[in-house]
Amino acid sequence: MIRIEDVIDKVQVNRPGADIDLIRRAYLFSALHHRGQKRASGEPYLVHPLEVAEILADMRLDEVSVSTGLLHDVVEDTLVDLETIRSYFGDEITVLVDGLTKIANISDLSREKQQAENVRKMVLAMITDVRVVLIKLADRLHNMRTMQYLKPEKRKRISQETLDIYAPIAHRLGMGRMRSELEDLSFQNLYPEDYKRLAKEVDVRRPELEAALIKIEATIREKLNENDVPFVKVEGRVKRLYSLWKKLKKQKIMIEQVYDLIAARIITPNDRKYCYLAMSVVHDVWTPVPERFKDWIAIPRDNLYQSLHTSVIGDGGQPFEVQIRTEEMHHIAEEGVAAHWKYKEKALGPKDEDENLDALRKTVEKLLLPLVENTEQHEDSEDFVETLKLDLYPKDVYTFTPMGKVIQLPRGSTPIDFAYAIHSGVGDTCTGAKINGRIVPLRSELQNGDVVEIMTTQSSHPSGDWLNYAITSKARSRIRHWISQEQRTESIDIGRKLLEKEAEKYKVPNKKFMSNEAELKRIANEYGLSRPDDLFASVGYGKTLPRNVLTKFLGADKIKELEPEGKKETRLKSATKAVKKFIGMDDAIVVKGVDNLLINRAKCCNPLRGEEIIGYISLDKGIVVHNRRCKNVSQLMVNKDRIVEVEWAKSDKEHVQSVQLLATTENRTGMLAGITNAIADIKTGIRDARANVSRDDIGMIEVTVEVFDKKHLDKVVGAIEHVPGVIAVERLNA
Ligand code: MN
Repeated sequence: MIRIEDVIDKVQVNRPGADIDLIRRAYLFSALHHRGQKRASGEPYLVHPLEVAEILADMRLDEVSVSTGLLHDVVEDTLVDLETIRSYFGDEITVLVDGLTKIANISDLSREKQQAENVRKMVLAMITDVRVVLIKLADRLHNMRTMQYLKPEKRKRISQETLDIYAPIAHRLGMGRMRSELEDLSFQNLYPEDYKRLAKEVDVRRPELEAALIKIEATIREKLNENDVPFVKVEGRVKRLYSLWKKLKKQKIMIEQVYDLIAARIITPNDRKYCYLAMSVVHDVWTPVPERFKDWIAIPRDNLYQSLHTSVIGDGGQPFEVQIRTEEMHHIAEEGVAAHWKYKEKALGPKDEDENLDALRKTVEKLLLPLVENTEQHEDSEDFVETLKLDLYPKDVYTFTPMGKVIQLPRGSTPIDFAYAIHSGVGDTCTGAKINGRIVPLRSELQNGDVVEIMTTQSSHPSGDWLNYAITSKARSRIRHWISQEQRTESIDIGRKLLEKEAEKYKVPNKKFMSNEAELKRIANEYGLSRPDDLFASVGYGKTLPRNVLTKFLGADKIKELEPEGKKETRLKSATKAVKKFIGMDDAIVVKGVDNLLINRAKCCNPLRGEEIIGYISLDKGIVVHNRRCKNVSQLMVNKDRIVEVEWAKSDKEHVQSVQLLATTENRTGMLAGITNAIADIKTGIRDARANVSRDDIGMIEVTVEVFDKKHLDKVVGAIEHVPGVIAVERLNA
């Protein structure tokens, strides 16, 4: 069993002059209060805080962290309270223990919510003191190492959480070693079968792989020596099981097809010029694979990682990766922010220590704050976790402004994300984008090295559509914020018009009612709202009926007396009448039971006669008709009151509509002609047709056809599908 002396020895080696007495006191306190408690393994509970303290000592953290490691579970699992901790150990340790206890104590929320909440609290606690997260990670690491004693169900739950939250945070903080171990342990417990199978497959190949590695290492050493390039170490390794497994799954390949099962690493003395020299030697011995060279020394990743990566073709024609970095860069790659922890030397006073902590905090803030920024706007917790996961896995792309400034974004980002990354004002007024000088759609995915130029117009503003392709949390929360603002303005307008209309119906003059601020405010207050605008918005959203508002103004008796004879207009009808601006009309669609309304087909899904449709009352475009399955409909459903039933008009006139289709085909000649002939054969108009070949040698043929209805379209799709060589046909913009 581990002893406190083992921990103390490590602290003394790593941090000469550390306050060992503090660690001893923390140990005694922890031992006293955890006495009699056992872990699932049957061992005394004290083993856990001791092991956590040792992990922290190995990370070369200070005596305060190590002591907190010993005390971290005392408040959560024993009767000791924070005030007692404070009286024995002072404020610094109390703040840390408190932060750790808070992270653990969120049990009444749903799981997704809990995770989101956990991360939020962790990040906020870290900003007070980064040591909280380092201790939490050490705690989690030890729990993961000793999971075999837990029930499989619990093991899986903890592993999933580790994979979703803790490993990505370790990655974000640049702690490569911590991340790898957390990932491999989670993998082993979450997918034990896959793990066993893969471990076996790698083991079978191990002798061969290791022999290859030895040869590669020897060649590198020999060539570096020959060329007088100094190096500290050359090492080879077999790819980690978890990253190998992810690769196999993602690319749907077999282990035989993985070319980078092995990799070599060169560690040079602390001067980056040796890295570039070493690289030129490597490129001299083996041929580099084009486009696989990455210079993360010139452009460090935002988690501080620095290294050169290159892939070369080995002697047997087998490519492998070589990583080259200095000793210092290597230390940072393994330990991340923990490596920035300077040694407390005798000459350093408490002030320097504070400055050191301060600098570290700034770094951590920069890395982690974007994760919780604007989280108040993430009312939907699941969405928050999703966004978070995306941000936590920075498979980054590096893009540039026209002035050469690097903008780092998660993979899958679009010009919208880029625009918001520059400045929210740029995002809000973005109208278009150029990538490498060419105008591109805003939904285009950015690639490494792209030079992106954002075009803006002051009067322009965000569109809800952007949510379909903005992926960074900053962009998404700004867009959502804008939409909710806009919906409110729109609802205030609609509400005001509905009330005016209602008042008119009862012949109440505007001067008495709509222009009577005091009276409107009184009614708003009755609804628990503070201002007339809030009242209008509530009416506009359909939460409050205009007639009820008027009843509050006139009184129940008076309103009955004034009730106009005959037809009582429905709320729906007056709502649509309030729509004034005429944009265009579509007489192929009617609203059930009502005539003469402004109708527009939604551009996002361009519904086709015969398809199931649904209407949404908008302020400036009348009723916008969507395909019931359009992805925007679920968003619109939030305002249920503004959804109306619509149907296709029975009409003798034949309405022609353009529909864009994409056919994926084998790459053979005559495909385009075959498809256009098939369409012409069934007497259907073609407005546009073009052919392309994708990178993986698949033909992509886009045709725009003119059809009357869904049945007609189905016929066209069927005809194209029958052309030899066609793999699939799909409809675009639907
Ligand atoms: Mn613990």
